[in-house]
Amino acid sequence: MSGNKTLIMIKPTAVRKAYIGPIMGKIAEGGFKIKAMKYTCLSIEQAKAFYAVHSERPFFGELTEFMSSGPIVAAILEKDNAVEEWRNFIGATNPAEAAEGTIRKLYGTSLGENAVHGSDSDENAEIEGNFFFSATERY
Ligand code: GDP
Repeated sequence: MSGNKTLIMIKPTAVRKAYIGPIMGKIAEGGFKIKAMKYTCLSIEQAKAFYAVHSERPFFGELTEFMSSGPIVAAILEKDNAVEEWRNFIGATNPAEAAEGTIRKLYGTSLGENAVHGSDSDENAEIEGNFFFSATERY
């Protein structure tokens, strides 16, 4: 059975471009319930820890520098089949290839600066949720 939670982030470029509001609107439109949310900034060490699964990828340095370049919004969202629902809702990794109307198409800037993150499995949703939020920060 698939889980009902996913961890999302609004990435630094989208925050800089004042897209927090529009993206929060899309979250509500999409029927995702907010279980936890914070406005924060990752240190380079935290970004490296969060993206450790990508440490062998050629873009790891660029990715972690970017993700620690400014404030982000992190949130746990709830919906049936949340991981897949959110990934469909945000569109392909590269905004240029994302379907019309998806968050990455609307608010993404480039392959690296693609507006939002979404967990890729229920297991990682749990790990990533625990990365940002304690039990008393979830409602
Ligand atoms: P996602 O699950 O759709 O986010 O994509 P991946 O797990 O493949 O990659 C994680 C994140 O790394 C993406 O959301 C991008 O921000 C970034 N990324 C992926 N490919 C590249 C790349 O070629 N260059 C850079 N700079 N970043 C990339």
